[in-house]
Amino acid sequence: MKTVCEKNKCSGCMACFDVCPKDAIEFIDDIEYFNAVIDEEKCINCNACHTVCQKENPAELKEPVAWYQGWARDQEVRSNSSSGGYANAICKAFIENGGIVASCKLSNGDFRFFLARDYEEMQGFAGSKYVKSNAAGIYKQVKRELIKGRKVLFLGVPCQVSAMINYVGKKLLPQLYTIDLICHGSPSKKILDMALKEYGYTWPDINKIDFRNNTKFQLRINMKNVLPIRVQEKYMYLFLNGVNYTENCYSCYYATGKRVGDVTLGDSWGSELNDEEMERGISLALIQSEKGKSLIDMASLNIYDVDLEKAKIPNTQLRHPVRISKEHDEFFKQIRSGKSFCEATKKTNPFFWYKQDIKKIMLKLNIIKDC
Ligand SMILES: Cc1cc2nc3c(=O)[nH]c(=O)nc-3n(C[C@H](O)[C@H](O)[C@H](O)COP(=O)(O)OP(=O)(O)OC[C@H]3O[C@@H](n4cnc5c(N)ncnc54)[C@H](O)[C@@H]3O)c2cc1C
Ligand code: SF4
Ligand code: SF4
Ligand code: SF4
Repeated sequence: MKTVCEKNKCSGCMACFDVCPKDAIEFIDDIEYFNAVIDEEKCINCNACHTVCQKENPAELKEPVAWYQGWARDQEVRSNSSSGGYANAICKAFIENGGIVASCKLSNGDFRFFLARDYEEMQGFAGSKYVKSNAAGIYKQVKRELIKGRKVLFLGVPCQVSAMINYVGKKLLPQLYTIDLICHGSPSKKILDMALKEYGYTWPDINKIDFRNNTKFQLRINMKNVLPIRVQEKYMYLFLNGVNYTENCYSCYYATGKRVGDVTLGDSWGSELNDEEMERGISLALIQSEKGKSLIDMASLNIYDVDLEKAKIPNTQLRHPVRISKEHDEFFKQIRSGKSFCEATKKTNPFFWYKQDIKKIMLKLNIIKDC
C-alpha cells in the first residue's frame, strides 16, 4: 500500500484528496488509523498531494502576541456555543464585514465543512463536535472564493488549518483568515456511529447532537441526554480521557504554545473570573497576527485579561500532545476482535463500568435521584 504521508500517521485532513488531479487517493479509516492510499495506476506522480500534506509540510507556527479571555456579548450566541461563544461571534462579524466563513456542521449524518455567506447559512456551526470532521471539498471551495477576490475565514482543528494554508498557497494567503481550536485529539467517526447505534439511534433520526453543554460534557441527541447526568456516558468518557483517538493525534505537531492560526480558541479553564461565568462558558483567545487582531476587534465580545502561563496549566494541549491512555490498547484490541462499542469500553475498566451499571439500577428504582 502506497500512502501519501507516513503509514498510520495521517490526520485525515483531506487536503491531498482535494488537490489530486486524477482522483487517485482513497481514504482508509480503520478506526485506529487513517491512511490516504494512492492508486498507482491512476497516479501521474505530480507530487501535489505531498506539497499540500500538512503532516509532511506543516505550516509555520507563530508565538502568540496577545491573549484574552471572555465571551460573546450576544447571550444567545454564548448559550448556543460550547464555551464562551467567541467562535460564533467572530464568524458573525466576519460575514457582516463582507467575508465568507468556512466551518463545520452536521449534515446527513456526517460532520462536513460548508461556506456561509450570511447568518442563516451559519446555523449549525456553533458547538464543538468531538469527533473527526470531514473537510473533503472545502479546500477547493475556499480557494475558488479567494481567487474571486473574496475574504474567507476558515475555522477548524489545527491540522485542518495547516492544510488549508498549504492548499491556498502564499499568493492568496493575505485574503485567508484562520482560527484554529485548541485540540487534544479526535476519534474516527466510526466510533461515534457504533456508540449511537448501541444507544438505539440511527442517523436519519438525529437532527441535533451535542457533545457538551458549557462545562457539562454529556452526549445529547435531539436535545435529550443519552443517559442520566449521574451516570458516566461511555463515548464522552473515552474522548475526555484520551482513549479513542486515531494514532496520529498522540504525537500531534500542533499541540504546543506556538500556533498555526491567526487566532486560536479554546476554553479558559484556568480562569480566575467568577464561578457563575465559568458555568456559562469562557473562551480563551490567543492572537498570532495582525489579521488575528482585526478578527477580535471586529467582533462583539466581552474581553478580559488572562494570565497565559496559568491558562496553559490545565490546557495541556498548549504544552504537549495528549498522553496515550493506559486504556487505549485494550479498547482497540477489543474493537479489532469484533466486540461491540459498549463491550469494548467495559473491558478497559471493568470495575468503573460495573459501578455505573449499579448507579443506573439505583436511579431506576428511585434509590438515588439524578442531578
Ligand atoms: C476535537 C476537538 C477537541 C478540542 N479539544 C480542546 C481542548 O483540549 N482544550 C480546549 O481548550 N478546547 C478544545 N476544543 C475547543 C473547544 O471545544 C471550543 O470549540 C473552543 O473553546 C471554542 O469555543 P466557542 O464557544 O468559541 O465555539 P464553539 O461553539 O465550540 O464552536 C467552535 C467552532 O469550531 C467548529 N468545530 C466544531 N467541531 C469541529 C470539528 N470536529 N472539526 C472542525 N471544526 C469543528 C464549529 O463548526 C464552530 O465553528 C476542542 C474542539 C474540538 C472540535
Ligand atoms: S502524485 Fe499527483 S496524481 Fe499522484 S496521488 Fe498525488 S496528487 Fe494524485
Ligand atoms: S494531506 Fe492530510 S489526509 Fe492527506 S495524507 Fe496528508 S495528513 Fe493525510
Ligand atoms: S490532535 Fe492534532 S492531528 Fe489530531 S485532530 Fe487535533 S489537530 Fe488534528
